[in-house]
Amino acid sequence: MKHLLVTGGAGFIGSHLVEALLTAGNRVTVVDDESTGRFANLERPSLVQAKKSDQLKIVRGSIGDLELVQKCLTDVDEVYHLAAAVGVALIASQPRQTIERNIYPTQILLDELCAQHQQGKPVKFFLASTSEVYGKNPKPVWNEDDDLVFGATTKPRWSYGASKAIDEFLTLACSRQFGLPVVIARFFNVVGPRQTGAYGMVLPRFVEAAVAGRSLTVHDDGNQTRCFAHVSDVVRAILGLMDSPDAIGRVFNIGSDRPISILQLAERVIALAGSKSQVDFQSYRDAYDADFEDIRRRVPDLTRIRTTIGWQAQLTLDDIIRDCLAAR
Ligand code: UDP
Repeated sequence: MKHLLVTGGAGFIGSHLVEALLTAGNRVTVVDDESTGRFANLERPSLVQAKKSDQLKIVRGSIGDLELVQKCLTDVDEVYHLAAAVGVALIASQPRQTIERNIYPTQILLDELCAQHQQGKPVKFFLASTSEVYGKNPKPVWNEDDDLVFGATTKPRWSYGASKAIDEFLTLACSRQFGLPVVIARFFNVVGPRQTGAYGMVLPRFVEAAVAGRSLTVHDDGNQTRCFAHVSDVVRAILGLMDSPDAIGRVFNIGSDRPISILQLAERVIALAGSKSQVDFQSYRDAYDADFEDIRRRVPDLTRIRTTIGWQAQLTLDDIIRDCLAAR
């Protein structure tokens, strides 16, 4: 039985990942400070037995705490580093915390892992990164070797992508310099049950509004596009990458490559919910702040993950919306 550490394991993606890792027969330790995650995400019938038998251990704390990190890393085989500041609304309102929470803990973890590696104890490291690292690259489809094109430093949104890009640079530096086995995944708009709309994410907000019969608020003209992937498909991709020797030392896009406009998304949610809700439009200035700059189009090239582990998303957008509606 492998022992795995999942940082941010009480979060939306983290909690789904923890369930899958336990189902695969691993022992899992979760570290989370509940800044955006909820331990309630791990209070599921399927996890009761794992908790009782110590197959699942939950530690409340920050991975910015060096002592805690050292304790948690004493006998692990793999680290899944998902703890990070998330959500455009949160980032716009707390750019200072975003930068610190994304960079400092990653550095602490990697320093410890490199030290262990040099003592002959190789621990595999998974970094959860984001499509935000591409910034506003104008290419219609983004592949992993494309340039990162951020906006001005006066626009706080870019602090998120830039700080996650630093995480990637750090991770790859540890791989090159010290031979640490690492895998980096860039998530593209992952959605599904347990995701909260509190930090700005569009689908849970639309689902909540449609079910309540309230208006769905579409930012700007709604012609900006995104590709949405179900968290269960994404978790399957993470497991596949961490199982593959061919993935080591590399960066992968994970997501769907089928774009939909935000206005069309709103209409689809209303239709599938059987709701009478209307659509309202709101400027970015009113939704975030005057300096807000959006990404108009975001589509991943998925060739690398397809050719490396044969992965592709299985669930369609309609499946995803139905699942989010059913999980409420
Ligand atoms: N958005 C929206 N209404 C909302 C929340 C978000 O129209 O209530 C828009 C947002 O401006 C962006 C898109 O939906 O253009 C996706 O936003 P989200 O925060 O989910 O993800 P990201 O911007 O990180 O892709």
